[in-house]
Amino acid sequence: MAKIYLKNINKSYDNKAVLKNINIVINEGQLTVLLGPSGSGKTTMLHGIAGMVDFEEGDIFFGDQLMNHVSIDKRNAVLVDQNLLLFPHMTVESNIAFGLKMRRVNKSVIKEKVNELIRLLELEGHEKKFPNELSGGQMQRVAIARALAIEPEVLLLDEPFSKLDIMLRKNMQEFVRALQQKLNITLIMVTHDQEEALSMADQVALLLDGEIKQYTTPNEIYEKPVSKEVADFFGVRNYFEGKISGGEFHSHLGRFSTNLPNCEKITFMFRPEQIGFGEKQKDSIEGIVKRRVYSGDKVVYTIDVRDFHIHVSSFIYKEFNIGDKVYLQANFDKAVYFI
Ligand code: ADP
Ligand code: MG
Repeated sequence: MAKIYLKNINKSYDNKAVLKNINIVINEGQLTVLLGPSGSGKTTMLHGIAGMVDFEEGDIFFGDQLMNHVSIDKRNAVLVDQNLLLFPHMTVESNIAFGLKMRRVNKSVIKEKVNELIRLLELEGHEKKFPNELSGGQMQRVAIARALAIEPEVLLLDEPFSKLDIMLRKNMQEFVRALQQKLNITLIMVTHDQEEALSMADQVALLLDGEIKQYTTPNEIYEKPVSKEVADFFGVRNYFEGKISGGEFHSHLGRFSTNLPNCEKITFMFRPEQIGFGEKQKDSIEGIVKRRVYSGDKVVYTIDVRDFHIHVSSFIYKEFNIGDKVYLQANFDKAVYFI
């Protein structure tokens, strides 16, 4: 196993920069997610690691070894593409055995290895089936088994679950995460789905327009985004703008005590779940319930405060109706802020 180090990577297509000065160390034995919207450069980065694309500037290391000119088949990094590309005329067994046969591995060793992977990927009973006789999730597991057969140092998955329906996607997410932890493989996964990234990853790298904007744990990137554009990517948030003077934050919502020093311009960020409902008291924000969206595990309210809207989420037992007067509590001492 090896950590992967991308150093000062640049890549462009048709004079358009697609990857801009990428610097990242990917930990061995962890699941690292490259997250970003479509077109942000995720696949290009993954293909560069696999050796399918040449970066025009910068270095790529597996451990201490410089890999820039090492060909795909010598990199020991296997990519499972979005389109899976199983061999349609081969059974599940033969698909999994393919890489080992190409490497002229001894037949009995192949048989043992294939059986082990069939068990590991829970494909028992499907050994003799052809790809068109399998469900989406089963095909996915065969593709992963085939990739794992040659015992790669690094497994690369490009949007692996994007074509699966929601239930199957959740199952496969859990399955792949558990498998990665059990085998302790270095896994790099590309996705545009923030929920998938947060729930599966050890580390998330957010890629926007070819740049890594933040690279850290799921908790940290969601709760402590380094910029508004990172905060924006993770969905609904509230921004409160104003200034701080004499231990008070002055904003369009009123004045709030804070322990931050004086500052001419500051923006606080609150996720909907970081604002609570409470009683009328000092520092509470009075508003009227404007909208109420039920989503099973929670309700998201839109609260009108004069001509501003604040989004607040709450567990079901807090029931408010449209038009109710409510008092909101926000802790400005704990909140993320941007200056
Ligand atoms: P993502 O996987 O995040 O959707 P890609 O890495 O596939 O993004 O693409 C990033 C940008 O590079 C896009 O604007 C895409 O059009 C462009 N691009 C990717 N591959 C090629 C290529 N082979 N030739 C020209 N442009 C490409
Ligand atoms: Mg892509």
